[in-house]
Amino acid sequence: MTRKKIVAGNWKMNTTVSDGVLLAKTLAENYNQQEPKMIIIPPFTHLFPVVAALNGSALGVGAQNCHQEEKGAFTGEISAKMLSSIQVPYVVLGHSERRQFFGEQDILLSAKIDAALSAGLIPIFCVGESLDIRNEGKQNEFVRLQLQNGLFHLSTDQFAKIVIAYEPIWAIGTGVTASPEQAQDMHQFIRKQINQAYGEAIADEFTILYGGSVKGSNAKEIFAKPDVDGALVGGASLDAMDFLKIARSF
Ligand code: PEP
Repeated sequence: MTRKKIVAGNWKMNTTVSDGVLLAKTLAENYNQQEPKMIIIPPFTHLFPVVAALNGSALGVGAQNCHQEEKGAFTGEISAKMLSSIQVPYVVLGHSERRQFFGEQDILLSAKIDAALSAGLIPIFCVGESLDIRNEGKQNEFVRLQLQNGLFHLSTDQFAKIVIAYEPIWAIGTGVTASPEQAQDMHQFIRKQINQAYGEAIADEFTILYGGSVKGSNAKEIFAKPDVDGALVGGASLDAMDFLKIARSF
């Protein structure tokens, strides 16, 4: 993928199906541009009706997770192939809530990345450190290991298809945003790791999103930083007007 401006909204476990379809339609009616690419990421139950309701819209749709196997005896799980079969093009993998509350670790996430790519999905892979790690000054090494363990087994062609979201855990859902400088420093560091692993051309073209309490009121200063290509938004993506304001902040 060439470097893109993206604003993606992770709805987490929020909204009923009918409220979600309404939110998706409101967004689609108010925003039908190609750039920045707007992606909504509703719960699994909403995906099919949301995709149907968005018929023909430029709004993208993603899932919040997928299983690493294509099919089988994995009660309660959803495979990447099931998502691609209903025209869902994106999947978030490695969100800190999946890592923290569901014990997802790098080795599992690297298998999920493989499964998503095999099914033709575009993974949005999340990395980011806790406050303790940042206070110890070890955030770069921590994120470097997440990248190495989760992604750097991919071929260049595979790697070029994905998107990375840097989401410091201390900024998610807390109202505390990383400063634009903190975001820029980490994004620049991530791009440098990509350069070392896959070369300059891939690194320059790579899309890196920031996530952590992004709102209409703070998006502009974060997007002004040269290595920040957009945002993965949680809470503010449930408010159509605030989410649209974020998308208009480039
Ligand atoms: C997220 O969940 O990915 C996120 C960034 O949440 P919030 O915007 O609410 O901090």
